[in-house]
Parts: sequence; C-alpha cells; structure tokens
Amino acid sequence: MKISSRIRNITPSATVAITGRVAALKKEGVNVINFGVGEPDFATPDHVGEAGKAAIDQHKTHYTAVAGILELRQAICKKLREDNGVEYTPEQISVGTGAKQPLFNALLALCEKGDEVILPTPCWVSYIEMIKLTEATPVLVPTKESEGFALDVDAIERALTPNTRVVLINTPNNPTGAVYSQESLRRLAALAVERDFVILSDEIYEKLIYGGAKHFSVASISEEVKKHTVIINGVSKAYAMTGWRLGYAAGDTQLIKGMNALQSHATHAPCSIAQYASLEAICGPQDSVETMRQEFERRRDYLFGRLNAMSGVRCPHADGAFYLMPTISGLFGKKTPDGKVLQNSDDVAGYLLEEARIAVAPGAAFEAPESIRISYANSMEELIRGMDQMEAALGKLG
Ligand code: PMP
Ligand code: GLU
Repeated sequence: MKISSRIRNITPSATVAITGRVAALKKEGVNVINFGVGEPDFATPDHVGEAGKAAIDQHKTHYTAVAGILELRQAICKKLREDNGVEYTPEQISVGTGAKQPLFNALLALCEKGDEVILPTPCWVSYIEMIKLTEATPVLVPTKESEGFALDVDAIERALTPNTRVVLINTPNNPTGAVYSQESLRRLAALAVERDFVILSDEIYEKLIYGGAKHFSVASISEEVKKHTVIINGVSKAYAMTGWRLGYAAGDTQLIKGMNALQSHATHAPCSIAQYASLEAICGPQDSVETMRQEFERRRDYLFGRLNAMSGVRCPHADGAFYLMPTISGLFGKKTPDGKVLQNSDDVAGYLLEEARIAVAPGAAFEAPESIRISYANSMEELIRGMDQMEAALGKLG
C-alpha cells in the first residue's frame, strides 16, 4: 500500500511507544518499572467516575455540540477566570478529544506551508510532528540546563522572522519540569504583540507545581496579549483522566470557529460521557488534586536526591509536571558488562532497561540528546526499587 509522504515523514510517538513496550515485557513476565510513563498513576477521583456513570444511566450518550456541551464550556470559562485571571466566553472555547486534539486543531487552523513555528527545546515529542503535519517549519530554540531550562526570550527574539506564525510554549514543561517565570512570559507577550505572532500556550501540567513556584497564564497579561494567545489545557493530568480523552482550547472567536469546523468533520465532538465527567472534575471538590500534587512533590524530592547522588548523572531542579530530566552524557564512553560502549541517550535507556529493568525515555526523542526523562508517576516503593536498580546498574559500568 502506498502511504502518503505526509505520514511517511512523521515518527510515531516515542512516549506512547515506551508504555506499549513495557506492557509487552510485563506480559512476558519481565518485571519492568516504567519511568517512561506520561500519566498520573492515581485513579480518577470517584465522584468524577460517578458523574460519567450517571451520564450513561441518564442516556446522555448522543452527539453533543461540536465545541462541547455548553455547561462544560461555561465551567471552563469560570475556571479560566478564577484560576488564571482570563475572561473568555463559551464561543471562545473548543473542547476536544484530549488536549492533543485541540492542540493539533489550533496548529492546523493557524499554520500552513511557509509559516514558521518557534519551539523551545527540549520539548514534548508530539509538537514537532504536529507542526510538520501542518506543513509549517518547526524552528527549534534550545533552553539551557545551566539556566534550569528557563524560557530564553532573547534566543526566541533572534529566531523571529516575518514568517513566524506561532511560538509554542509549555509550562510547566514536559520533559524538563521547568516552570516559566512571569517576567519571561511578559517579555514574550510584548514581542507577540509587537511582532504579531500567536503564543500557543500548553498549560496541561498547570496544577502539578511544587515548592513556592506559581503557574502564570500568559493570556492574563492584557486584552491585547489575550488576542495573541491560545491556551491549551485539559483534565488528563490534573484529575488523572488520561483515558477519558478530554482537553480544550481557549482563544479568538474566529480561530475557535475554524477549529470547530475542522472538528465537525474529524470527530464531531469529544465523547459525551467524558464531557459530563469532566464537568464534575472541573466544578466538583478539588481536594484530590492537592492530594496528588503533594504526593508528586514528595516523590520529586526523593528522586532528585537519588539521581544527583549517582556518578555520571546530573539532575537539574524542576518545579513542575512529573518528570525529571537528568543529564547522562557523563555515562557516554563507559562500557557495559558485555563490552558495549554507551554512546548516546538511546544506549543509556537501552542499558537501563536490560540491566536495571527500568524503562526511561531517551532524551533524543525530546531534542535533548544528552539526557533521559524519568517520570515519577510511580509509587514510592517503585521509585525506591527503581533507583536502587539504576544505581546498581551504573555501578557495573567500566
Ligand atoms: N501536552 C503535553 C505537554 C503533554 O505532555 C500531553 C500528554 N500526553 C498532552 C499535551 C496531551 O494531553 P492529553 O492526554 O489530554 O491529550
Ligand atoms: N504526554 C505523555 C508523555 O509525554 C503521555 C504520552 C504522550 O501522549 O506523549 O509521556
């Protein structure tokens, strides 16, 4: 079968592949700890599940409005006002299947051939492939480990051209865990207004933030900045609802209209049951979010200490999401017990899977070739065991 060049030119999601690989190994009876995982290990809160069941019992199981049910879009507007200090109307909200779909819809509605999308790296694996699918060109602008992977607005300014259509940011960040400062976001926003580009702001990890760090939504700066911003968010990470597949975009009315036109042909609307469950997640009690957040923080602190105590590993501090991204280039050139020389992040991830029985995401997939990404969406027991196994495996390198 001939496959289109559009599809031949993309690579499948490396993060999704890891979870599949670990599941296959577990099925074969191999006990692997999955540090590659990109979803909370907690159960969806019971009251949210009950709302989903009630939607089924009440036969709320038909097509909904393309943009999502009005009550949910109103609830999202309230959330954006109260949590983020930004005013939107329900016509400015498009609810989709996970955050992935509104994100992709926004890129398709904004970008075309000849456009450039600036992307700070390291970045989440799906951004580059989504940008390529719109036929726009991804322009990668590295952030530095020595600066805690902070947003480098000077570097972004240098990368701007008349073709820059979008700057795609993600804070708290996957894979680095960095939380962008209010000051850097204000500088980026001023550039967006002055040079007329759109800030696509992926805030999916907003609730998972630690220490004194605070999430700041760039759209809240002013009405003018809001006009230049599209917010992406969803329920997957905050409410442990990855399987429900529900996310949303908030932005300019005409843009949202265009995204809805696209969605009306692609999927019609997100799952009705997931929409009612998400309404409860957003409007109902929020204590489970705080319980999860506190547990993630405890695990982050533990992991941070363990990783930095390992020779050849250097782990920068991170204030958000549930990932740490240690630099492991100190292991390059070392020999495994069977004589193989570790040369890159894939080799290190491969060795850790073989020898330590832990799955980690190789940094190359995130444009971070000297790093690996470790997810702490695992129980404390597994973290302890995994770190013990990693330390022992690194101790065997020559
Ligand atoms: N953005 C980032 C940065 C993510 O890590 C993820 C996780 N898959 C998503 C968007 C997509 O989230 P969802 O599962 O809701 O599609
Ligand atoms: N976002 C998560 C990750 O980075 C989940 C998998 C995916 O959708 O990429 O691992």
